[in-house]
Amino acid sequence: MNTQPHELDFGGNLAPYAVVDAISRGRRFEEPSPSYRSEFQRDRDRIIHAAAFRRLEYKTQVFVNHEGDLFRTRLTHSIEVAQIARSIARALRLNEDLTEAVALAHDLGHTPFGHAGQDALNACMHDFGGFEHNLQSLRVVDELEEKYADFPGLNLCFETREGILKHCSVKNAADLGDIGARFIDKQQPNLEAQLTDLADSIAYNSHDVDDGLRAGLISIDQLQGVPLFNEQYEDVRRLYPELSSRRSIHEVVRRLINCQVVDLVQTSTQLLADSQPASLDAVRQHPGPLIAFSDTMRERNLELKRFLRTHLYRHYRVHRMSAKAEQVIRNLFNGFFEDPRLMPDEAQQKVWALKAEQGEAGQARAVADYIAGMTDRYAIKEHQRVFNPEELT
Ligand code: MG
Repeated sequence: MNTQPHELDFGGNLAPYAVVDAISRGRRFEEPSPSYRSEFQRDRDRIIHAAAFRRLEYKTQVFVNHEGDLFRTRLTHSIEVAQIARSIARALRLNEDLTEAVALAHDLGHTPFGHAGQDALNACMHDFGGFEHNLQSLRVVDELEEKYADFPGLNLCFETREGILKHCSVKNAADLGDIGARFIDKQQPNLEAQLTDLADSIAYNSHDVDDGLRAGLISIDQLQGVPLFNEQYEDVRRLYPELSSRRSIHEVVRRLINCQVVDLVQTSTQLLADSQPASLDAVRQHPGPLIAFSDTMRERNLELKRFLRTHLYRHYRVHRMSAKAEQVIRNLFNGFFEDPRLMPDEAQQKVWALKAEQGEAGQARAVADYIAGMTDRYAIKEHQRVFNPEELT
């Protein structure tokens, strides 16, 4: 029996176009290979041990964190994305470890208060290069995590970083070197990254239906107008006419996830069989993505997204939360930018350091880094500590 660690085969029975250690473009700072793990297992493990990962527990997408304990947080969302993405990766014989690493890291750069927080911070950063959460996720793993003696950030493999940077403006891509090149050259990312992006949308569309129903912001009656939901709902009603409403909803949500995963695996299997990419390079140079939904499923998905946008994300109760959240972010940004001495020592040191390097834009970036790293409740608390005169005592 051979137990030599360097002879362990982490490639398994992967497809020729999957990412494997041997073809990785490597890390920014060279390191010896891990003993009993693949390079991408190590990436996944570093992400799990990151402070930004732990903070996902107290960050939200749609609902403010303390609205209720039953709603998804960014942490549970990321775990759900990893679960869905790994199933797809295994079915397509792609690298599950890389897929899991990308899924767990994909939301690390999000501000507190979900999209409202991101929009507010982006507006505050308008004159200083803006704020993109994808770019910030990369910044977290490349720069902001301070844990290792030999390098800044987590020093992840190129392919993991490529997956984390899902979108990027051409303007920003130009400053990013090799990792930004594909947005300029119009190339595709690796398949593990492609599938994780779609697993993200499967996860949030399905769980926003679940959370929206639980919060009483949307109803089954309304959702019956959405074909993707209604088909699953009718199936459940027919098979289990007596089932309680809570269990019916879960049955529908799990079917929603499953039918999208099955469609994605079948469509992608066909696309890959048709184009037969010989290698990862062929995947990157392919004119379009090779992981995709069927046309019908893409349309159904859009209908569900449109429904959620109109009835959930723009619901007045969600809008009230968002409006308050934007105010918190704006006040914090303006307060700290005008007087960085209001910031705790460690964050303040970073402001002075980046200001010395890049002037006002650096000062703004360091303030944005500090705010983006906050959890929902920390941002609310910090806002009180800085602006509420009653906290003087
Ligand atoms: Mg996400």
